[in-house]
Amino acid sequence: DVWTARVITLFPELFPGVLGASLTGKALKDGAWCLEPFDLRQHGIGRHRNVDDTPAGGGAGMVLRADVVDAALAAARGPGPVIYLSPRGAPFTQARAQALAAGPGVTLLCGRFEGVDQRVLDHHGIEEVSIGDYVLTGGEIAAMALIDATVRLLPGVLGNAASTEEESFSAGLLEHPQYTRPAEWQGRQIPEVLTSGNHAAVETWRREQAEELTRTRRPDLWARYLADHDND
Ligand code: SAM
Repeated sequence: DVWTARVITLFPELFPGVLGASLTGKALKDGAWCLEPFDLRQHGIGRHRNVDDTPAGGGAGMVLRADVVDAALAAARGPGPVIYLSPRGAPFTQARAQALAAGPGVTLLCGRFEGVDQRVLDHHGIEEVSIGDYVLTGGEIAAMALIDATVRLLPGVLGNAASTEEESFSAGLLEHPQYTRPAEWQGRQIPEVLTSGNHAAVETWRREQAEELTRTRRPDLWARYLADHDND
C-alpha cells in the first residue's frame, strides 16, 4: 500500500497546497504517495457544527472539543502513528522524517485557536510533535512541513536518490556550500578544487566545509556529531 498522510483540519481546502508543487506534487500525481484531508467541521455539534468552546478555567480564545476531535480521529485514523502538531511537542527532526518514511504513513491532527482539549490526547495517548520554538496560528503549515520532509525520502520521489544521503543533517552535519556556472561572477571564482576533476579532493573539501559550518553555526549539532564519532 502506498504511503498515506491523513490530515484532520478545519481547512481541508488548504491541501495539497504547496505539497502539490514540484517533486512532491509530481509524486502525488504519480501515486507515489497519497494525501487525505479530513474536515473536522463535519464532526461538529448541532446545526452550526460547533467544534470549539471556551477554555475551562477562563482565559482568552477557544479550545477544540474532545468529542469532536475524537469523532474525526475515528473517521481519519489509518496505519502508522497519530501525531498532534503542537508547539509543546518533541522537536521534529530529519531522523523522525526517516522513521516515518519507513512506515505506512501518518495521521496528523492540526490544532487551531488555543489547541485541543487535553483529554482526547490523553485518552488515545497521542504524541505531540513541534516544528520549532515559535507559535503558528494553526497546525496546517506544520503538517505540511512534516509531510514534505517525509515524502521526499520515499523511494522514487526525488529523481536522484543519492541527493537525500548527502544533504544537511543526514550525516549529522550541515551541508557544504554549492556552486554552479558561471565560473566567475562579480569577480568571485568557484573554489578551484571543485573544478579540478579530483573527486577525492572534492570529497575532502566538502567534508571540511561541512564540519566548519556545523562547528560555527550549530555548536549543538557539532557536539552531538563529535560524541557520536568518539563512539566509533
Ligand atoms: N495555546 C497553544 C500553546 O501555547 O501551546 C498554541 C496554540 S496555536 C495558536 C494553534 C495550533 O497551531 C496548535 O494547536 C498547533 O496545532 C499549531 N501549532 C502552533 N505552533 C506550532 C509549532 N511550533 N509546531 C507545530 N504545531 C504548531
